[in-house]
Amino acid sequence: MEFFKCTKCSEEYVFRRAVCHKCGSEEFTGVDITQGTAIDSVHLIATPEPMPDDYSVVMFQTPNGARGFCRTVSEIKRGDRIRITVDEYGPVCEPE
Ligand SMILES: [Zn+2]
Repeated sequence: MEFFKCTKCSEEYVFRRAVCHKCGSEEFTGVDITQGTAIDSVHLIATPEPMPDDYSVVMFQTPNGARGFCRTVSEIKRGDRIRITVDEYGPVCEPE
């Protein structure tokens, strides 16, 4: 999953920003995020096509403190270490 890292102060963002809120730099580079820690999750049922009817959305934090979301069909609890990949619908996570 690609995050955007400020080239001046290393702050990470899930979305590309015009200006880094921490240092004011306008230079970012893509960084591939493959691991994180689950902060919380929400179990979803009866979701719209083409998503499965039974999965969870997980908020996670990267080792540098940036936060993002992924989905999973596995049981992931707060504090669990996760591995993050991307499929055609977006970020997917599994317990590490
Ligand atoms: Zn910065």
